[in-house]
Amino acid sequence: MTYIVVATDKVSEEGLSRLVEDDRFDVVFEHDSSSDAFATALTGAHALIVRSATTVDAGMLDGAPNLKVIGRAGVGVDNIDIPGATQRGIAVVNAPSGNTIAAAEMTMALILATMRHVAAADASLRAGNWDRARFQGSELFGRRLGLIGAGRIGAEVAIRCQSFGMDVIIYDPYLSEERAEEIGSRLTDLDEVVTTSDVISLHVPLNDETRGIISEESISKMKAGTYLVNASRGGVVVESDLANALESGHLRGAALDVYEEEPLSKGSPLRNAPRLTLTPHLGAATVEAQGHVAVEVAANVAAVLGDEDLSAALNREQLVN
Ligand code: NAD
Repeated sequence: MTYIVVATDKVSEEGLSRLVEDDRFDVVFEHDSSSDAFATALTGAHALIVRSATTVDAGMLDGAPNLKVIGRAGVGVDNIDIPGATQRGIAVVNAPSGNTIAAAEMTMALILATMRHVAAADASLRAGNWDRARFQGSELFGRRLGLIGAGRIGAEVAIRCQSFGMDVIIYDPYLSEERAEEIGSRLTDLDEVVTTSDVISLHVPLNDETRGIISEESISKMKAGTYLVNASRGGVVVESDLANALESGHLRGAALDVYEEEPLSKGSPLRNAPRLTLTPHLGAATVEAQGHVAVEVAANVAAVLGDEDLSAALNREQLVN
């Protein structure tokens, strides 16, 4: 039997070569998931591979009666109706580690750019100025990084920040002391991270525990002059509270790659907040990461379809029971 795999959202074609070159699979690339051609291809699809641009909702699942697996080329699966998929017996797999380094390096770029005013200085120079006094920055060396969440990405950020001479503490209720030690850091509670860090960086999933974990209340406990960086998920930082804390000068700087609502609305107060670096969800946007996540998701889709191996399925327990 030949399995039809529909790939959309410009998933790296090279990264899916394992499926393309395997006779058991017929891979169809339909890059625009709003097109009629995509909808037609989906009617016969056994697998669907998406990135973050396509929302796989009940309507889409209804149009794909043969679907056995949905692959997300990336880590976040908030764009996939997992309960709906489970109900239809469809496995959902992702590519959790393919973009770890890209996201960790993006976090470093955001920390450094914010502390040295790179974006604002660039804009000022292009506007005809030569303003050195306005852009005096701060060094990472000798400062404390407080991580909220230190799984794959947070751990890589910890290691990189230590190489800059930073002391790293972590709040992560699901991380072991041993793992924290292994990455040269110390586990502590949220209060110590919030009240003693010079730079706070978030690397958590968005869920009921983490939604709004950085709000007016937690920001007010931060030392004056703290820097805040979020390249994890929008919603973990209350954006209006962050904008207020930058306006008041309590926070010295901040950087965001992810937002409560994406794309960020034109009228968002963040667009005018001072000393804030904004990027449009670029954490995983490297050539290397897009290749890695496609390779990883291809392996997981092949396992489900070709070998009936559900071990990588995020909903395997519900599917098996
Ligand atoms: P991960 O699952 O490896 O790590 C998440 C960590 O958060 C885990 O160690 C977990 O124990 C911890 N955690 C869970 N609940 C917590 C809580 N209430 N308080 C503190 N810690 C908690 O995930 P990852 O691959 O490191 O990804 C981290 C985040 O980055 C995810 O939200 C992911 O979607 C996001 N991400 C963003 C981009 C981007 O483009 N900006 C790219 C990749 C990943």
